[in-house]
Amino acid sequence: MKSSEQISRCRQGLGEDLGELQSAIDQIQRSSFLVRASLYWRERQCGKEGCRCRKGKLHRSRAISVRRDGQSRVISLRGIDLLKVSAGIEHYQRFREKSLEIKRLMSEILKNVSLLGKLQEVDLEGFRR
Ligand SMILES: [Zn+2]
Repeated sequence: MKSSEQISRCRQGLGEDLGELQSAIDQIQRSSFLVRASLYWRERQCGKEGCRCRKGKLHRSRAISVRRDGQSRVISLRGIDLLKVSAGIEHYQRFREKSLEIKRLMSEILKNVSLLGKLQEVDLEGFRR
């Protein structure tokens, strides 16, 4: 490939990546409340004599698992708005996806900037009069 073709491909790539970066940043800026956790069902036996859970029909309740300082903690959702928690978890997942995309795009942009610099470097021989 001729270097002029490479340069134009490189410039085009930069423009496209910048557009995608702008769009990802817009989405990050619009993000609202985030809940960094995973939602699941907790099943347990209550310990009461003759309860249905003794026969294998366990009590089920919603809980979330949260990681803090490298430790996993389970938090019961009794009395907490499940819809809001689910929305917050979804928001966090989208936020995380977008931030990974931003990271990838920035590294791509830096790669293209460096390549563009190399491709446009000239030998002083070209300036000879
Ligand atoms: Zn029970």
